Amino acid sequence: MDKRSYVIDELISAKAIAARVEALAKEIEEAFHGTDKLIVVGLLRGSFVFIADLVRELDLPVEVDFLEASSYGGEMVSSREVRILKDLRGEIGGRDVLVVEDIVDTGFTLNHVLRLLSSRGPRRLETIALLDKPSRREVDIKATWTGFEIPDAFVVGYGIDFAQRNRNLPYIGTVRFTE
Ligand code: 5GP
Repeated sequence: MDKRSYVIDELISAKAIAARVEALAKEIEEAFHGTDKLIVVGLLRGSFVFIADLVRELDLPVEVDFLEASSYGGEMVSSREVRILKDLRGEIGGRDVLVVEDIVDTGFTLNHVLRLLSSRGPRRLETIALLDKPSRREVDIKATWTGFEIPDAFVVGYGIDFAQRNRNLPYIGTVRFTE
């Protein structure tokens, strides 16, 4: 783990996030209008705050499930190799599925998860990412909906951690090392 001291500079305010989540929920409601059940799949752990806010804005019949893929593991760079650490509890065959990701960075994680889930035959499979770092992309993939495009910076807050800390910040900030 990185032991250097750092400060967090606010990048996206809690208010801006709330407004964007509300707008995204409206688009999702329209896209899935008439669904008998939308299975919202949160990718642990970084999406837990986002999914909690998002589902409360959705006026649709919703079921929530979670999937955990291996991530940076305390490091600040992507490992590229994605493993499933915790699979879904429920079946998604023939269902409408929305995968909720915190950040699309290189794209390896989302790509791996979407391949896995599409092999299970969902009726419809869409994705929403709170943050997108397009300049970092290595796999040609884009979420159906994106909250905010951000520059190539390491971010924390609103569910997103640095070595398991700072998930509880209500805003999104960038990490700046002070030594
Ligand atoms: P990808 O596979 O697209 O390179 O990485 C996606 C995952 O990497 C995200 O779900 C997130 O867990 C992690 N990640 C990417 N960028 C950041 C960042 O700026 N901060 C943190 N804490 N995690 C990040």
